[in-house]
Amino acid sequence: MSAEATRPTLDGTVPWPPELVARYTERGYWTHRSLGAYLYAAADADPTATCLVDGPVRLTFAELTARADGAAVRLRALGIRPDDRVVVQLPNCWEFVVLTVACFRLGAVPVMALPAHRRQEIAAIVALTGARALVVPDGWKDFDHQALAHEVAADAPTLRHVLVAGADVRPDSVDLRQLCRPADDPVAARRALDAAAPAGSAVALFLLSGGTTGVPKLIARTHDDYGYMMRRAAELSEVDATTVYLAVLPLAHGYPMAGPGLLGTLLAGGRVVILPSPAPERAFEAVQRERVTFTSLVPAAVQRWLEYRDKDPDRDLGSLRRVQVAGSRLADQVAQRVTPVLGCELQQVYGMAEGLLCLTRPADPQDVVCHSQGRPICPDDELRLVDEDGRPVPPGEAGVLLTRGPYTPRGYYRSPELTARAFVDGWYNTGDIVRLRPDGNLVIEGRDKDLINRGGEKISAEEVENFAYQLDAVSLAAAVAMPDAELGERVCLYVVPQPGRAVGLDEVRAVMQRAGVAAFKLPERLVTVDELPYTAVGKVNKKQLRADISRRLTG
Ligand code: AMP
Repeated sequence: MSAEATRPTLDGTVPWPPELVARYTERGYWTHRSLGAYLYAAADADPTATCLVDGPVRLTFAELTARADGAAVRLRALGIRPDDRVVVQLPNCWEFVVLTVACFRLGAVPVMALPAHRRQEIAAIVALTGARALVVPDGWKDFDHQALAHEVAADAPTLRHVLVAGADVRPDSVDLRQLCRPADDPVAARRALDAAAPAGSAVALFLLSGGTTGVPKLIARTHDDYGYMMRRAAELSEVDATTVYLAVLPLAHGYPMAGPGLLGTLLAGGRVVILPSPAPERAFEAVQRERVTFTSLVPAAVQRWLEYRDKDPDRDLGSLRRVQVAGSRLADQVAQRVTPVLGCELQQVYGMAEGLLCLTRPADPQDVVCHSQGRPICPDDELRLVDEDGRPVPPGEAGVLLTRGPYTPRGYYRSPELTARAFVDGWYNTGDIVRLRPDGNLVIEGRDKDLINRGGEKISAEEVENFAYQLDAVSLAAAVAMPDAELGERVCLYVVPQPGRAVGLDEVRAVMQRAGVAAFKLPERLVTVDELPYTAVGKVNKKQLRADISRRLTG
């Protein structure tokens, strides 16, 4: 085993400077309590309240905490220690919640992989984190995750256990449902775990952000910073013990998990109802049955909800008070339809796994709610808008947003190179082009970073291009976003073939599939050209390519 893999989690992170630690503590943002401590305080306030619903499974706070403690004790028995990384690749399900809380209790660190990830991403995440355990479903959407997990484990010296949720648990896997039984001696388990609670400064979990080389970027979030963010987001979104939150987006994303999402709702004493997808057919039915008050969607999903309302006009959505929308820009015209069609408030959200969270507030006028993406949640969130030379732009003009603050980490985990590229003196360069309105709200105007935002999933253009270059027939390749009515954007690949050769879309997709990358990254259109356009500084002119594909689609 490499020395790297055995180092404690915090070793690979970039700390906040001591003066900021002091400031964030003094101002009450950082309380030095673990996420488990907050959640258990909520549970103790009303242990018999139902806090988690997943199909037929309904757990009270007492049951959730008993199961989480049971899982924590059994993880420990498997040799998982505080600071050990546990890669979690689960669809939305109650086991995801129990396991995540168990890790918080134990101080083990869940690494939030997406169910859509495949061999390429999972192997890279396991290697980079030196994970001890990998948690997967037995299968999901016709894919055998358990088989892949064992394949990855065979090549990963640090990985000791594959934990599996589902009915088909192989003999060499650990049965997650058995692991998530209540502790045999709940009182003793609780006492021992309370006594060994992780420090506020400990890493609570890792979020992922798309990488350019097939290795996702890892963002370490501490109990202090993440706890502050979800509590404050809950407060500003009026989430409390009466809230029923419907979780429909993949919970591994920070937005449905903590903006305030699943965790913010549980910490506030509310109830979370889980569904595997935002499909309106099941979501509407769940809203009516469970009296859902709050949910979060991406623009593509809200669009489907608005369209579906006509097909299911009698469904009682009267309990729904607020729908959040984030992940990519919500068109103003769509924003305006949310309240009339769904009968609830809209809350626009702009955020990122790297930290900063902006929200519109419930009392905001319609103009703010429909035409902006909100404002930062913390008075100590600092924003700077700069031009391409890094100089501040004049007030009211759009610029690239840089940010720092009490829940925006200062760098990527175990990657000085990526940190150097995206962080300047602790300021995170969001790569988003933003305008600051005089009322303090942000409007996201575009982006400077080279990625494609497919319904909220971010795909690095460079990663797709690198795969295309594996084909001998490809001379030049450029991946760009092509507009799409349903998802906002999809991946389009421009290719200049080698003289006398041709390149087909299927060939590029086959290279990527063979490498085992997540399907959402595969290009969906290929355009063959004789040459690529270039900017004055010699970079491929992607703006021109985006305009070209738009023309081709409409023309
Ligand atoms: P992620 O880390 O996957 O949550 O992605 C964060 C990125 O998603 C941001 O940097 C933006 O580019 C984009 N994003 C998130 N919310 C919005 C929004 N409301 N409008 C436009 N872009 C958004």
